[in-house]
Amino acid sequence: MMKTDEKLIINGKRLDGRKPMDIREIEMKVGVIPNANGSAYVRFGKTTAFAAVYGPRELIPKHLQEPDKAILRCYYNMAPFSVSDRKRPGPDRRAVEISKVTKLAIEPALFLEEFPETTIDVYIDIIQADGSTRVTGINAASLALADAGIPMRDLIVALSGGKIDDTLIIDLCGKEDNYSEADIPIAFLPNTKEITLLQMDGRITPQEVKDTIRNILKAGEQVYKKQKEALKNRYK
Ligand code: UDP
Repeated sequence: MMKTDEKLIINGKRLDGRKPMDIREIEMKVGVIPNANGSAYVRFGKTTAFAAVYGPRELIPKHLQEPDKAILRCYYNMAPFSVSDRKRPGPDRRAVEISKVTKLAIEPALFLEEFPETTIDVYIDIIQADGSTRVTGINAASLALADAGIPMRDLIVALSGGKIDDTLIIDLCGKEDNYSEADIPIAFLPNTKEITLLQMDGRITPQEVKDTIRNILKAGEQVYKKQKEALKNRYK
């Protein structure tokens, strides 16, 4: 974690005026990419993600097929223009890691055994990045999968937590992400509260991790509500 002389929390207020447990403004929409089987747009403050789902469709080459279930493939990509210092295009180590954890976060929500020999492909593109892009991408993927009509045990809700100046916060923006003492992205299934993603970077006590998980399960209810609204709005 990098160091900064700038105060990230002053009198209990964060850089953008939020209190520690406030989430940025959320915008969610499904069915935004007509050519995809399912799609979604998700924005938390300035962080903006699109997700497009193709499938279940026959997996070619056939030797990659699983005889008794679908395989899930996730592709996380950050657009070169999504950050102020242009990002080199193409997959890097970070994108490979995020694609992998995104797949692991989503898989428990799906009934892959219903679609043997097929693939479900989830493309996540970050159009603008201001912190917490992986959780924003997972929320977009959750909506795009539901929009594709793929049977799901539950939606997948994702939110980041962290620690700044000994204060626990949620939904980190870019500067908070870069300079926080700790950064903890979490994804979970809202009905069972099964946690499907939990990563951690920085220094934080076991009790603070427990508190962060509790904070995110609680605040995640707002994200879950927004996801359900976005899906209902599709059919208005
Ligand atoms: N970021 C950046 N350039 C990069 C990668 C990341 O500016 O090549 C910024 C971006 O705002 C991102 C943040 O750093 O949201 C934190 O990135 P991290 O790897 O922690 O993943 P994220 O929090 O986005 O899931």
